[in-house]
Amino acid sequence: MKTSTEHVKCGPKPFPWPCLSCGQGEISPVTVHNYETEVTYNGKLYTVKLPEFRVPQCDSCSELVFGNDAGEQINVALRQQLELLQPEEIEQNLCDRSMSQKDLAAAIGVAEATVSRWKTGTVIQSKASDLAMREYFKRTQPQVEASADAAKKVGQLVAVCLSDVLDSWVPASSGACADWLCAQQNEWRELLGGLADQYAAGERHGLKDLVRMLNQRS
Ligand SMILES: [Zn+2]
Repeated sequence: MKTSTEHVKCGPKPFPWPCLSCGQGEISPVTVHNYETEVTYNGKLYTVKLPEFRVPQCDSCSELVFGNDAGEQINVALRQQLELLQPEEIEQNLCDRSMSQKDLAAAIGVAEATVSRWKTGTVIQSKASDLAMREYFKRTQPQVEASADAAKKVGQLVAVCLSDVLDSWVPASSGACADWLCAQQNEWRELLGGLADQYAAGERHGLKDLVRMLNQRS
């Protein structure tokens, strides 16, 4: 199959595009199944297989038109094939540890700009850098994730304690404050009940979830 990048220079415009290659067909996005292409990674040539490749194609001469999106799909497949962390996995690991890309760069001995390029997907990390990242993430595994059972108990306890606070707080208040608390408390109790249920069902695993949820409420 022939490929080109000719149309991409014109910037995004609505499909169908006229085919500049054969001058007869129209170009629209299609899904090509089991697409194979060759990619150079760290000086070696790899055959990358994409079960489903979304790409614009001419309905007459079958030419494929490659843009940034095609390149990204191929990079995702290459990382998958070589068992390298995807950009969003790097981002998630940093987020779980409240770490910056600068922290990670310092920890594994690369420039911050390099980590930034891995995170945006513009550059694919070497196997050695990938292993260094994995090793570092393994070593710094957040505790709440590591002990889901303990976190579940803490979560349930927090929900029960907050409920107790509400029980003693509401009758002890007076005036406008008490009115406000009375108006609020059913909503709060419902929220706490739901929270305790979620911890019991294992849908929530730590204090991080609790904090995230409380932040969403405010
Ligand atoms: Zn064509």
